[in-house]
Amino acid sequence: MTDRPASRPDIYLEAAKRSAAQRERTIAAMRKCRFDTIAVHGLYSLDEALDFNQGSIIEPVYMSSSQAYRDSDEMEAALSYKIPTWCYSRIANPSIYYLESTLALLEGYGFPGETSACATSSGMAAIQSATDAFLTPDPKHPGRPMNFVATCQVYGGTFQQFSVRKAVERGIECRWVLNSGDLDEWASKIDGNTRFVYGEMPSNPGLAIFDLTKIADLAHSHGLPLIVDSTVATPALLRPICHGADIVVQSVTKTLTSSGFGIAGAVVARKDLTSRHGTDAMRADFAAYLKVLPNRDLGQNLSPMSAILSLSDIRTLRSKVDMLSENARQVAEFLESHPAVEKVDYLGLASHPRHALASRYLVLVDSEHDARYGRPVNRYGHLLSFRVKGGHAAARAMFDRLQRIWRATDLGRIKSVATIPSISTHQQQGEDARRMADIPPNMVRLCVGGEHPQDTIADLAQALDGATKGAVAQGPAAFSVGGASSALLGKRSQP
Ligand SMILES: *Cc1c(COP(=O)(O)O)cnc(C)c1O
Repeated sequence: MTDRPASRPDIYLEAAKRSAAQRERTIAAMRKCRFDTIAVHGLYSLDEALDFNQGSIIEPVYMSSSQAYRDSDEMEAALSYKIPTWCYSRIANPSIYYLESTLALLEGYGFPGETSACATSSGMAAIQSATDAFLTPDPKHPGRPMNFVATCQVYGGTFQQFSVRKAVERGIECRWVLNSGDLDEWASKIDGNTRFVYGEMPSNPGLAIFDLTKIADLAHSHGLPLIVDSTVATPALLRPICHGADIVVQSVTKTLTSSGFGIAGAVVARKDLTSRHGTDAMRADFAAYLKVLPNRDLGQNLSPMSAILSLSDIRTLRSKVDMLSENARQVAEFLESHPAVEKVDYLGLASHPRHALASRYLVLVDSEHDARYGRPVNRYGHLLSFRVKGGHAAARAMFDRLQRIWRATDLGRIKSVATIPSISTHQQQGEDARRMADIPPNMVRLCVGGEHPQDTIADLAQALDGATKGAVAQGPAAFSVGGASSALLGKRSQP
């Protein structure tokens, strides 16, 4: 051990001020860059690489659980959050910080104010931490009931979290908006005990969308924050904060990490958000508040390895979403023309009832600065669904014949993936809730990947043709894990 000179706390405070100023300069410089440049670099600058990371051009994976301090002064300043620190990986970690700062810049691209982000272990954890922060007792009226207003067309896991974990288990009323196109319905559900307004846009799998700006105005007129899950769009197509939302939740697992290397989530919030409930600190910087207080205590943090794998995929987000969207459009057009298909839901089809509204909100970022386009162009993502003629049995027969499109409860992948929501993602919520969310038993959800679209179309064509001809479908191999039968393992499909 070397002898260290006796230190004074102000050395650390001075160093912290310098690095905060440096960070502000990097943020200001990056905010002048285009979306692709931000996605590639984030806040990982040459200075950051040389000063802290041995010049490494790629952000390092800090698998360490914790950070060591030079002396007690530095430890005290760090643990009272007076100097930048990551101290312990449940609270913060440099690799996770690189992901968070990139996501904050991307979701805030085009927004004049500041944004910040808090990464979480999954999309569900992001939704839980973003919403539960507003579901704490009112200090002035601790016994008062609470409610929140949400679109009923949401991801199956969100439906369970809201209706079971919050409503049944904690007695917090969830008020579903059945027709998210009806502003009056939203307004009629808000009252003095409402804590936040929540919407998924576009929804998975129903592709419901609503008029974001109007709903943000409505929420704000009641002093409420608007929280939007825009997993299906990604910031390459929609940045809800630019349209008035206060908080965005992302299942980073999906299109953001299209390689499929793990589960991750994020909460991105504008600074100084609207909320009549909560503290000034919470409103001032919601994501930082989540990180250093509730999520520190609840522990839904991300692994540093997952953070870097996600970051690596995000660098090419814009061009990937462009390609995947165009592949999906071709597949949707094929399906729409196929006689065995009852209906196709894809926002990019002119036949879709919400095509016009979707076209107002889903725009490929920076397409006006892209030499190939030179103007804003619409892109509609790679999620679509279709209904097979002949009901559930016909949908299953087609599904079981798919050869290259994977049967999996997944989406956002570079590989095409399909599922039947009524027996998988939306199985647990039951018949009535599925009807409410318009998820019939013959619906197939398809997320089109990066394969050549003609190959994906050929796979669908043979599956549809084979199923219509009544050929015996070749089902997947019998399900067994380590010799255990599916009966022992319980239900086969995961929510
Ligand atoms: C998958 C998904 C979630 C949940 O994300 P996980 O990362 O799986 O926890 C939330 N919202 C939407 C729209 C999703 O598709």
